[in-house]
Amino acid sequence: MRSPIPSPIAAYLQDLLTRLANADSGEVASYIPELAKANPDWFGIAIATLDGEVYEVGTTRQAFTIQSMSKPLVYGLAMEDLGEEAVLAKVGVEPTGDAFNSISLEAGSGRPSNPMINAGAIAAASLVQGPTPEARQQRILDTFSRYAGRALKLDHAVYESERDTGHRNRAIGHMLRNYNIITEDPEPALDLYFRQCAVEVDCRDLALMAATLANGGQHPRTGERAIPRDLVAPVLSIMTTCGMYDFAGEWVYRVGMPAKSGVGGGIFAVLPGQLGIGVFSPRLDARGNSTRGVAVCRALSEDLGLHSLLPPRTTTSTIRASYTLSARRSRRRRGQPQAAALDARGDSVRILELQGDLRFATLERAVRELVTASSSLTHAILDMTRVRRIDDSSMQVLKRLEHDLLAVGVKLLFTANESLGISAPPDTVGSNVLPDLDSALECCEGDLLAAAGLPEAPVTNVIALADQSLCAGMNEEELGILETHLVHVTSAPGDWLVRRGDAADALFLIMAGTANVLIEDKDGTTRRLATLTAGMGFGETALIQAGVRSADIRANTEVQSLVLFASAFAEMKKSAPDIAITLLGNLLASSHEIAARLTREIAAVGA
Ligand code: GLN
Repeated sequence: MRSPIPSPIAAYLQDLLTRLANADSGEVASYIPELAKANPDWFGIAIATLDGEVYEVGTTRQAFTIQSMSKPLVYGLAMEDLGEEAVLAKVGVEPTGDAFNSISLEAGSGRPSNPMINAGAIAAASLVQGPTPEARQQRILDTFSRYAGRALKLDHAVYESERDTGHRNRAIGHMLRNYNIITEDPEPALDLYFRQCAVEVDCRDLALMAATLANGGQHPRTGERAIPRDLVAPVLSIMTTCGMYDFAGEWVYRVGMPAKSGVGGGIFAVLPGQLGIGVFSPRLDARGNSTRGVAVCRALSEDLGLHSLLPPRTTTSTIRASYTLSARRSRRRRGQPQAAALDARGDSVRILELQGDLRFATLERAVRELVTASSSLTHAILDMTRVRRIDDSSMQVLKRLEHDLLAVGVKLLFTANESLGISAPPDTVGSNVLPDLDSALECCEGDLLAAAGLPEAPVTNVIALADQSLCAGMNEEELGILETHLVHVTSAPGDWLVRRGDAADALFLIMAGTANVLIEDKDGTTRRLATLTAGMGFGETALIQAGVRSADIRANTEVQSLVLFASAFAEMKKSAPDIAITLLGNLLASSHEIAARLTREIAAVGA
């Protein structure tokens, strides 16, 4: 077997890395002495998708300290601990044009403008809960580890280096104490802050941490939750407006993704619902952002169309198919008068097959379609089988729609989708949730037939040989001759009339009762292909060619059938060729009708 081809995505990242490796402006941070030891040429890029695939090129496994990229994560933790309002009372959400280490507090209140500048981050650290300093440190480390999907640890040398030289941050801490933003000794909060900044990560971690935020707070690989879903938008908002300090405006303009940088040389950027990016290169520009990191994010955004404000062009429609019962019937085959009645009324049942994520903007199309059609409908079916997610507001809209349609006499049916919490009761009579689309269609057909005064024929009705569709055009004498070639078979409910894989050696004509044609699909589940009722034939291939049965047929009720074995048919072709020809002609007509129905269905469903 050949080995798989290299991914063009990895090749693109490699090209980007090579192209930008020449950009060597900027300086490694040295105000924290230990950081000056970084190799200025380290350069890595990683992208993580929401299903956990990671593309990485360059220096992606070199450990370095997270620094300010810890700030949004700790801010999220503080909100989780105290609630949004309590945190907002201590730290604002307004961007400043000031540098990350500016000693800027809101005039009057002394509240730091936002949690991404050091003042706000130190205030946020002071809000993290825990009985002891060690417990608080551990909670921060555990939280970061959940974001990364692996156990992270502290770089002690960097921590001590900053603790011993961080006089400016210490000044900020005491200012916060002065304004009662921090209400106790600020030293423990400062110590916690120095520690959170000294957690070791690598470039790959950054991509996965960003992907965790992009994924609504759940790590794409471990499935572990790092932050409650409802706090993700607040954290990403702050990253958008303040994450790149005094470069935030231009960053949003050029790159358009919530992001955070750290003086260790890392940047992570989040494209909500899509992916996470990590870049590592220790040379910093004058604002303390990684020079190459900024260039990489700009290039990725432009080359791959990742700006988050770029309206997505490719969102697939939520409506997979829209048609009426005229285009697609249930698998229950019906006799002539019933079929004609359904033909006449089929347009009063509208079916929408939905798919993907139902949110306000995606559901709106489906709702609009039903509202517009409502004046001509008796029924509507929303097929939920392929819906992956539905948010609460959409669920409310659907309930309201159901109620309002019912008020004008339109029944809205749903197909079950267990993962969405929409389940069909064991006894579906009178329920508007049906196990699958086929049963929903059948349910509507039943209502339409009852309204037409044509309730289903009772299953005990016996359809005489003369009235079998495959005997159309035969006179009494011919019927008599045919009958001498037939064998009468009675099957009990649950009996197999035909088993898949058996030799196909007979044609069945159903005189009374109903039977299901069952197939097993790829994943091993049994599906009903059709329900056969009295007056219909099946197994006709036996008369045309020797082969094996392709489906199972099982009696639902007691079934009376007349069976024409291939050997008897072979004999009849010699002794009564006219009858054989009529029978074959009828078979051809019925096959043609089935093919025509399938063509209509495929055209409607687009499958
Ligand atoms: N620990 C660093 C400081 O407070 C973090 C700054 C940063 O990464 N921008 O100076």
